Amino acid sequence: MQNNHPPKILIVDDEPQNIHLLGQTLKNDYQIIIATSGHQAMDKLKGPEYPDIILLDVIMPDINGFDICKELKTRPETRDIPVIFVTAMDSHANEQEALEIGGVDFIIKPFNNAIIQARVKTHLDIVRQQRQIKHSEALLKSTLEATKDGIIVFDNSGKLLMLNQNFIMMWGFPPEVIASGDKDQFLDYGLNQLVDGDARRENLEMLWQSDNKDSSELELKDGRIFSRYSEPLIQDGDKVGRVISYTDISTQKILEKQLTRLSITDPLTGLYNRRRLHEIIHDEFIRATRYQRELSVLMMDIDHFKQFNDNYGHEIGDQILEQLSSCMKAHFRNVDWCCRMGGEEFCVIMPDADLAGAMDAAERFRQLILAMRVDDLTITISIGIASLHDLEPGEDPDELLNYADKALYTAKNNGRNQVKHYQPKE
Ligand SMILES: [Mg+2]
Repeated sequence: MQNNHPPKILIVDDEPQNIHLLGQTLKNDYQIIIATSGHQAMDKLKGPEYPDIILLDVIMPDINGFDICKELKTRPETRDIPVIFVTAMDSHANEQEALEIGGVDFIIKPFNNAIIQARVKTHLDIVRQQRQIKHSEALLKSTLEATKDGIIVFDNSGKLLMLNQNFIMMWGFPPEVIASGDKDQFLDYGLNQLVDGDARRENLEMLWQSDNKDSSELELKDGRIFSRYSEPLIQDGDKVGRVISYTDISTQKILEKQLTRLSITDPLTGLYNRRRLHEIIHDEFIRATRYQRELSVLMMDIDHFKQFNDNYGHEIGDQILEQLSSCMKAHFRNVDWCCRMGGEEFCVIMPDADLAGAMDAAERFRQLILAMRVDDLTITISIGIASLHDLEPGEDPDELLNYADKALYTAKNNGRNQVKHYQPKE
């Protein structure tokens, strides 16, 4: 029954006359193979090619047709070949036995040609459909296994319909949970592996009832991150279950974090960069004005930095920048934001610090740097400060940076190595 070849029928009967009659009836539509004894039949069923259907006599001198059938049903290669008994035995008991041992049909001799043709056709149709279903299942199975995702499908009652190996591998489900085929057991085991499993339970239960698609990220206790996508399984317009797929996005997440860190920090000093500074000043400005808190900004610059580079080389220059940055991180509070604006210019955003507090912190930092040595060299810095109270109503938070910058210029012009607060009239 492959491609365009006509299906093969094995006719087994010890009476040549019966074989002849059956053959005449079926030869136009099928390829006929014959066996005139039980042994001959078993020979023809050794493979590698097999008939698509068997018409089997029961009473034969060597082997009984029932025994042949029983034997065929024990072998995987022949188990699914439909067997139609064609026999002179006409009792219900015989018929019952024939069906019980795996025969698909029972036709009593003398037979009617049209009935033989119809029954053979019916059973071959069933075989064909079964093969198609098997083929579809195999195709579905190989498709399920051909993805990197872990996939699981439940029906409406929470019974497992299918899953792939990746699903088992990703989650490490134990065999007893898989064998249970029960959604709740899968859920319990899965939630237990999540950082926030308990908090998610209720949502998942609700999602299970709903017709919605859903995607979310799951953080596992072992550090991996999965993305989960689920949607209802629809058949003929009705929701019959739910499909859930998982993708391991841990590597992607690590790369994202690295990328984010790179995009907001200065590679030499590890301080926040100018881009991040502008986001920070806006966020802190909004927070400070909303909650009526203090906010101060320090702008600082290494005095005569160019001379260090020119006289001692860029390696010393870099060393000064790195050492100063380390001091900055150690000196200022955890809540303060230390940034490198570029070159030798730095900025510190100090939430909850009023002018006096910021002036004090800046002055102590200036002295700290003065006392610091890099390769026996002394470094001095100038610092300009502005606080929230320096802003006129309606002014932009960027103006705070601007005012601190102006104060820094004043410090420079006044002889460097000093801290200055912004003065509007200067
Ligand atoms: Mg016979």
